[in-house]
Amino acid sequence: MNCKYHTHEKAQWYCHQCDISFCLNCCDINQREIAPRCLLCRTHLESYGVSDKVTPFWNKLSEFNKYPWQENAYKFLLTYMGIAFVIGLLTDFIPITMIQLLLLLALYSIGIGYVFTVLTKAARGKLDAPSYDEALTFNSDSMTGKVIVLYCVLIGNGFIGYHIFGSGFILPYIAVVSFATPAMLIVLAMEKHVTSAVNPARIASCVKAIGWPYLLLFGFSFLIDTGLEFAQSQLHFWLPQAVAYPMLFAALAYFYIVKFSMFGYVAFQYHVELGYGIDSENLIDGSDNALEKRLLAKVDVFIQEGRFEDAEEVLYDLAQDKKHTVKALERLVRLNIVRKNPTGAIKAANNYYQNPKLSSIGIEALRLYQEIVAFEPHFKPMNAKARAVLLNQMKHKRYLEDVKKLTSVPEKMQSDVNLPWLMLAHARFESEVMNDDANALKMLNKLLSKHPRGGHQTEAQQLRQVCQSMQQKLSST
Ligand SMILES: [Zn+2]
Ligand SMILES: [Zn+2]
Repeated sequence: MNCKYHTHEKAQWYCHQCDISFCLNCCDINQREIAPRCLLCRTHLESYGVSDKVTPFWNKLSEFNKYPWQENAYKFLLTYMGIAFVIGLLTDFIPITMIQLLLLLALYSIGIGYVFTVLTKAARGKLDAPSYDEALTFNSDSMTGKVIVLYCVLIGNGFIGYHIFGSGFILPYIAVVSFATPAMLIVLAMEKHVTSAVNPARIASCVKAIGWPYLLLFGFSFLIDTGLEFAQSQLHFWLPQAVAYPMLFAALAYFYIVKFSMFGYVAFQYHVELGYGIDSENLIDGSDNALEKRLLAKVDVFIQEGRFEDAEEVLYDLAQDKKHTVKALERLVRLNIVRKNPTGAIKAANNYYQNPKLSSIGIEALRLYQEIVAFEPHFKPMNAKARAVLLNQMKHKRYLEDVKKLTSVPEKMQSDVNLPWLMLAHARFESEVMNDDANALKMLNKLLSKHPRGGHQTEAQQLRQVCQSMQQKLSST
């Protein structure tokens, strides 16, 4: 499905009210709104999803691996190691099991709070690590409670199964649970309910939404766990207990940050399939001319729908930006000529000819001037500088007109050695001054078929290319 107004762009949103599909650039995206709005009727749009448009998670593994090395993340890891060290010392000095357990719980809950923040942030399409403060404001305590409840439910189910079916139940049960773990954690993080995280129907729908790539997700998650187990066994074996404590928790946090950034990105990639909303502004590309592209796309929508006032408003918005003033005003002039609105055309034209760098776009300025005069014969640019630029261009034009007279040579003169050059000059005139690329192309094709070789050849071919691309541009707008 492609955009109704930009037939070469993939449609991203759909308006039920208007029954129209829009591309990313031609809808209204406002911050803090659940979905973009339809330009035409202002209702919220429905997303077609991004799973086939963003880089799939299996091509982003190196980014997940680098995630813990971002400044925010390794600062967290260092702080976490510090806390683990202190808590390790405390547990050595206070030999009361209850207090030791509470301290351990505190340590876990800090880690859990952080990795779940990583997941929910990545689920919004943002792969920059959260700071420690950001993670603390996240409700880490309740997340810890939910993770504990989740573990209790899973272990409880295991016990019940063991008592009913005997020891043969344990291995398959562990296999199923470990296969379902990525789905359970994604559901828990996104929906924040243990009941949905352990609901077999919800887990199955999550796996189904992701499809075959879920196997990859499970595989990567499994590999990370294996790496973690290896790291833990090595640390336990080689290091004294006091030092091992911070190291163990740092390794745990490190591997879980990698894992949860991947889970979060999966939730982002499949958010529509999984049934989650998403901040649509994260989908906009932040490149330099992105804003221009978006505004021009909106203009296209309004013009094609015949809503010229709205189109003008957007164009004047675009003209505010110095980089786009020329383009926006030129469009405004043409738009008003098409609408047969002299006041609007002249207002835009006067703004256009105030451009201090008009001489650098002399040919375009003359072309536009001719169009305006054909529509409104009394039009004259207000400032002297603009008139000088136009006069200069017209002199150039008159010279070319002389050339044109020369090119209308009678048939018997066709063998003239200068003929190819005259034809080339004529074609150039048609294209650059008369703005008639079709005529220029006709001339060039005739020239290149009758006189394919000679000094004029390269120049003629170049000009033909320019004319062709201009025609393509015209037909696509
Ligand atoms: Zn579009
Ligand atoms: Zn609509």
